Amino acid sequence: MTRVLLISTYEQGHQPLGVAAPTAALMAAGHDVAAFDLAVESVSPERLGVDAADADLIGISTPMHTAARLGIRIARQLEAMSDKIVFYGLAANSLRDLGLGRAISGDTDLQLVALANGDEPQLTPVFDREKRLVPDRSLLPPLEQYARYMDASGVAHLAGHVEATRGCAHRCTHCPLTPIYAGRLRLNGADTVLADIDQQVAMGAEHITFGDPDFLNAPDLAVDLLRASAESHPGMTFDATIKVEHLIEHEGLLEEMSALGVTFITSAFESVDDRLLEILDKGHTASDLDRVLHSTQEVGIALRPTWLPFTPWTAAKDYLGLLQFVETRGLVDLTPPVQLGLRLLVPADSPLVEPMREMNALISYDADGLTWNWRHPDERMDALQSQVASLAERGASFAEIKQAACLALGAEPWPNLPAPHLHRPGLTEDWFC
Ligand code: SF4
Repeated sequence: MTRVLLISTYEQGHQPLGVAAPTAALMAAGHDVAAFDLAVESVSPERLGVDAADADLIGISTPMHTAARLGIRIARQLEAMSDKIVFYGLAANSLRDLGLGRAISGDTDLQLVALANGDEPQLTPVFDREKRLVPDRSLLPPLEQYARYMDASGVAHLAGHVEATRGCAHRCTHCPLTPIYAGRLRLNGADTVLADIDQQVAMGAEHITFGDPDFLNAPDLAVDLLRASAESHPGMTFDATIKVEHLIEHEGLLEEMSALGVTFITSAFESVDDRLLEILDKGHTASDLDRVLHSTQEVGIALRPTWLPFTPWTAAKDYLGLLQFVETRGLVDLTPPVQLGLRLLVPADSPLVEPMREMNALISYDADGLTWNWRHPDERMDALQSQVASLAERGASFAEIKQAACLALGAEPWPNLPAPHLHRPGLTEDWFC
């Protein structure tokens, strides 16, 4: 029996599946597991050091860029134990050469079991067709310590989080899934997902987030899960992430999804510039955005767009166009200011490295930041990006950001439009990659 310590640093405000899923697999294989979720647990460096020293294997969950950067800090604290450390998850590959531990990606639950069994890790991502075991949440803090769901009346509810699939059937060029999954999609098994929902309802959840990269990659499974959950747990509400292309392709499902309890959908709009949408291989155009805003509004689902406002291809007029779109479509309250300052991340294995090299946009690779530093051909855009990011950090409003952008880009500020007097459903944690 191997003693395994699993550490999560950040999972977008959710009780981390990055710990619960491998805990189930490791325990089923007879290993002894302990876990920390440092996003919500306050653990002193001494306590972390003692527990890490007791473990034979230390897994640091890195499901996204922010978690990977925080994971580096933890690994540095435990540097003397780097031979026991393994980073696992979507962003783990970029940590491989830091000398802080090994790294595994793809479907990592069974790879962690193999490591705990004493096998060597695979250097390339591993994918299996196994459905998942029901995640074991017994080692994690209660749902009360995680992001809540706010309903349309502004009332807070405990929220749970499940994933019906792994990977994604698409290959958007800016997406961290593309270098790892390359269009592969794996299903976690309907019975597994429903049992995970049941256990979180027993913990008090009144809302469930389907955290799949895209819930409608497997539309039949998605609808089956909603029907079964709505029947078992009447009154339960749901949210999911769904790309624009799928919202159009499966427009006919939206009415039933709303009736089954889906109250909001997060969708990666990214830009209002068709040229950039094509470079990112998003599968939608700017004109599709109005269509999906309309179709979701018609059935009473709030659509929460996410944006990629600063890329080397985003011209001043495109940024101003994005601000105008947000304001004229009544999306200001659905757009956390931090979204308006996001800068394209370019991991070492990104398909965008070569095109950016060709346009002379790359400066140097930042090993600790886990991204290429890049420059915009229009210097004003780089200056504006850092200004908007710090304005957002200071809690600036949309109107202040708009004012700053117009001033920086020499545009005439347009009058502020009145914001809709609505409370729209959402989670208490902003969306971050
Ligand atoms: S659809 Fe979403 S999850 Fe899939 S590759 Fe594109 S950005 Fe990534």
